Amino acid sequence: MSTTADKSPCNPLLDLRGLPLFDAIRAEHVEPAVDAVLADNRAGIDALGRREDAATWGDFAGALEEMSERLDRVWSPVRHLNAVMDQPELREAYNRCVPRLSAYSTEVGQDERLYRGYRRIADAENFDALGTAQRRIVTSALRDFRLAGVALEPDAKARFKAIQEELSTLSSRFEQNVLDATDAWYLHIEDEPQLTGLPSSAVDLARDNARQAGVAGWRFNLEAPSYVPFMTYADSRELRRQVYEAYVCRASELGPHAGRWDNTPVIDRILALRREAARLVGYPHFSEYALETRMARGTQEVVDFLRGLAGHARPAAEREWAELQAFARDTHGLGDLQAWDVPYYAEKLKRQRYRFDREDVRPYFPVKRVLSGLFEVVRRLFGMEVLPAQGAPVWHPDVRFMEIRDAQAGLRGQFYLDLYARPHKRGGAWMDSCRSRRRSAEEVQSPVACLTCNFPRPVSGRPSLLSHDDVITLFHEFGHGLHHMLTQVDYTGVSGINGVAWDAVELPSQFLENWCWEEQALAFISGHHETGEPLPGEMLEKMRAAKNFQSGMATARQIEFALFDMRLHSDFDPAGGRSVQSLLDEVRDEVAVVRPPAFNRFQNGFAHIFAGGYAAGYYSYKWAEVLSADAYSRFEEAGIFDRRAGLDFLHAVLEQGGSRDPLELFVEFRGREPEIGALLRHSGLAA
Ligand code: ZN
Repeated sequence: MSTTADKSPCNPLLDLRGLPLFDAIRAEHVEPAVDAVLADNRAGIDALGRREDAATWGDFAGALEEMSERLDRVWSPVRHLNAVMDQPELREAYNRCVPRLSAYSTEVGQDERLYRGYRRIADAENFDALGTAQRRIVTSALRDFRLAGVALEPDAKARFKAIQEELSTLSSRFEQNVLDATDAWYLHIEDEPQLTGLPSSAVDLARDNARQAGVAGWRFNLEAPSYVPFMTYADSRELRRQVYEAYVCRASELGPHAGRWDNTPVIDRILALRREAARLVGYPHFSEYALETRMARGTQEVVDFLRGLAGHARPAAEREWAELQAFARDTHGLGDLQAWDVPYYAEKLKRQRYRFDREDVRPYFPVKRVLSGLFEVVRRLFGMEVLPAQGAPVWHPDVRFMEIRDAQAGLRGQFYLDLYARPHKRGGAWMDSCRSRRRSAEEVQSPVACLTCNFPRPVSGRPSLLSHDDVITLFHEFGHGLHHMLTQVDYTGVSGINGVAWDAVELPSQFLENWCWEEQALAFISGHHETGEPLPGEMLEKMRAAKNFQSGMATARQIEFALFDMRLHSDFDPAGGRSVQSLLDEVRDEVAVVRPPAFNRFQNGFAHIFAGGYAAGYYSYKWAEVLSADAYSRFEEAGIFDRRAGLDFLHAVLEQGGSRDPLELFVEFRGREPEIGALLRHSGLAA
């Protein structure tokens, strides 16, 4: 078969011989590369479609795997650059490709000839002789064809396809509105007294921001390294209110940029289209449709799970909220505690109660030490070495490239590490697949991951010092990375994180967070940036005591988001004349303890469900926390570096990717079905 690379050797996106040529990719390469692969794949699919005799893995499913993996490898660097190096030309090229890709994927998903091909493999006598991963790919493909409307009449099929295209464009618009609204706002401070209360790390960053903008003073923005410390520490209540308002009104009809990037109509349209698509293929609403591919068995099971958890969280949350109000009133004379006061007084109460300040531990977590500590945890648990690697072109000088090798020094995977916040980089932290493991006749292609964080960059000669939350974030994302890179599955469709049910995908990431709380592990994860001294035992003790501070309130908030998401995609009818806001209010009536002000438009920035993969899936975090806490409890019983348990987790979960049912894998590791007890105990919510 001819490859696209033969036709356009000058386009770096089409050079798939090695790692992506991140330093050579330009906006003008994007469309030609995507169009070339799409054309090639269409021709290949057409040829396959004409072969009614193709009923073996190799000449049918394997060939399709190859096509989809080629497309992935061309598109994934583009998607990544668009997220971390957002530029107008690249964004435009990206936006022009999104509907084409979506059209292609719907077209493939609706191709009856391909559906029949998979059917032939599934019905063939030798189906059972295929490997687990291959069988899983075939049965998932048959399910996905059904979900993509393969069986619909031509008109309905065309409509389904048009809906998917519009939805993908709307998701991009939603996210770009949030990004633009985030980037557009800043608070400029010229009078030093207005900075009181703020830690020096936040002040230094703000001075640096102002300097980069060519002005005197300090600039605070809505990126996390600026926003979070400001809301937690700034003494000026009025400025906190301003920053809070700008943040929670992003991309809405309210706030300092009211109406400028308003996501309200985008949300309404997305909900209506999702519902319409679900109904076309025979589901009452989007939520049942989405849950078809999940570990959870249906909307009701999820709603019951959330309400059950709310029963444990709410009494604790009410107690915590009353305590916080009393604290603000009695010790600071504040009678009307508002949303922009909550993190500020919570921090003060926490400090008073535990004599612990989040900022006090920061000097113990220089990024270099934390990374080497993380790699040591991985070595002890799974017997894997993480080492610096050479030869990978990168997109920014801050980016590092590394590899993971097993005990026999065999290469398991490689990853890029992009740690620091900067302009034009999407906020938050995430792991994305850059390349997936697969075995061909000639070789094994090792997996590659991109790990992206938004930590404070080093300023004025001081190394980047992480908060403990940042440390947890890094472990979390690396857990996703391990899931992707340690896989032993040979077929891209279910290797690494591919094909893993959404509500099980957070198991490895949340699982790995646990080591950030263990003295034995912190002995080498932490080390003072000046003295090298590990986090003192008394500080850890306070930190652990403070760990579940307000965990009832935090859990209630997560349940509020998750229940809002579930109801939005099930019993809410976008055409029913009712607003999204009124549903959110109703959910808050049921489960929220702290009510945000009426101008709060949190939903307009809720990218998880409107631009990410979490639609009718936000519950996955809590769901997977049950799994991860329960999995970790085996280490609590056997010892946190117990190699037997580590290897069992490696073999039963990390290496299996999406090749098997997640519940089955969990049971294999734990010896029984998941139980909620460990999560309640870890969160301090056990009765
Ligand atoms: Zn995650």
